[in-house]
Amino acid sequence: MKKRNIIIAIVIFIILIIMIVIGNLNRKDNKESDKLKIVTSFYPIYIMTINLTNGIENVEVSNMAENYVGCIHDYTLTTTDLKKFENADIFIENGYGMEQFSQKIIDSYPNVKMIDSSTKITDFVQEGDEVNPHFWTSIDNYILQVEKISEGLQELDPLNSENYKKNESIYEEKLKELKDKYNEINFSGKSVVSLNESFSYLFKFIGVNETLIETDHEQSALSAETVKEVIEEVKNTGIKAIVIAENDDNQNANLIAEETGAKVYKLNDAMNGDNSIDSYINIMNENLEILKTMFN
Ligand SMILES: [Zn+2]
Repeated sequence: MKKRNIIIAIVIFIILIIMIVIGNLNRKDNKESDKLKIVTSFYPIYIMTINLTNGIENVEVSNMAENYVGCIHDYTLTTTDLKKFENADIFIENGYGMEQFSQKIIDSYPNVKMIDSSTKITDFVQEGDEVNPHFWTSIDNYILQVEKISEGLQELDPLNSENYKKNESIYEEKLKELKDKYNEINFSGKSVVSLNESFSYLFKFIGVNETLIETDHEQSALSAETVKEVIEEVKNTGIKAIVIAENDDNQNANLIAEETGAKVYKLNDAMNGDNSIDSYINIMNENLEILKTMFN
């Protein structure tokens, strides 16, 4: 009898051990999925967000349109993109109609919380009836977007709120340094013709008069008539600089330059890069050097 009791005790003991081990394994699994999963819509928003989450261990950031080099405002959501929201907790977007597919994400994953980075911006550039949503090329607007994302993260992930605040002030310090570099140069009163609407906020930020030729990023689609009109405008105003983005086709810009004696300059719209936390700052420093030569 005693022997039997001992055997039963041993069996119960072994079962208990197994249960504890299994319990621990499960807890480990839960820990993995306990990571806060953030998905950003595209590059500038991704760079803002990785600065705010820098060094925070239980937060994971991925960029939805990571392999897309164009502007998200022309983007068509794929099934692969939608899948990225399956385990996501937070979606961060530029806002103001830039992500026309957002509703589809909300409908498919109603539990994913949204942060719209644009809601602190008040200084808009109007393009016809619409607000130009390429806010981030103004460092002032970029800072407002960082602040809004930080606020959103603090609210949705209160346990890390001090970390977000700390990262925000580190990043803002760097951004203010960048802004100071821009403020050292007086660009006000200068004029450009731009064939890419991404830079409207940059020019407004530095006080440069911009004649924007509406292109939807792709100035190769300009009609011969429009090109003719631009040539007239450049001749009449004596504008010396034509601006396109680095990845733009430069055929029309070159044609206008040839006809008018103006020069073509390529600025970086910060819509793709090396994924480093200082990417935006590095790009804007390079842009500053180009702007200096442009107006010298
Ligand atoms: Zn765009």
